[in-house]
Amino acid sequence: MKIKRLEIAGFKSFADKVVLDFQQGVTGVVGPNGCGKSNIVDAIRWCMGEQSAKNLRGKAMEDVIFLGSENRKPLGMAEVSLVFSTEDGRAPAKYLEFIEIQLTRRLYRDGESEYLINKTPCRLLDISELFMDTGVGTKAYSIIEQGKIGQILHSRPEERRLLIEEAAGVTKYKTRKQLALKK
Ligand code: ATP
Ligand code: MG
Repeated sequence: MKIKRLEIAGFKSFADKVVLDFQQGVTGVVGPNGCGKSNIVDAIRWCMGEQSAKNLRGKAMEDVIFLGSENRKPLGMAEVSLVFSTEDGRAPAKYLEFIEIQLTRRLYRDGESEYLINKTPCRLLDISELFMDTGVGTKAYSIIEQGKIGQILHSRPEERRLLIEEAAGVTKYKTRKQLALKK
């Protein structure tokens, strides 16, 4: 599953809608300090279901909504869409009939939020399931931020095991077993 496109609107420093098309190969984002490079990674993480405001470098989830600037009023909603191509055949079976999978997350200032897969409202659980065992999800290893390598090296064996289970593709079954045992 490869990221094809990212659309950001009203999220952090991106007041107006910005569309980033990812081409083949490696993409680098360059720019002066504070121009919004890390906000792009935050947008990807957030759209994939990140629940911790701290992991998005904020205090409360509302902090992701554009808070206004000298000459612009704050906005009432943040929306990020992430489009994956399914061409490599590695998406979950039920999505393989689609050429691409579009995830959308919206958050309004009153706290109301929405998740959509291919424009259809869904649960956060559906988003998490989509990424389980792909190594992509918010807790997986596809985003290696500053300090993460050190954190992995110093983690307890049980914590490190979770990363290996994700790479081996057993996370989904473990989660389903835990859910079934709860019922
Ligand atoms: P560096 O090179 O220092 O890592 P960067 O390009 O990664 O910088 P970011 O951290 O992505 O920069 O962006 C920081 C900017 O985003 C700051 O100017 C901050 O004011 C702005 N910002 C963060 N949250 C919001 C928000 N909710 N509304 C408006 N602007 C915001
Ligand atoms: Mg940065």
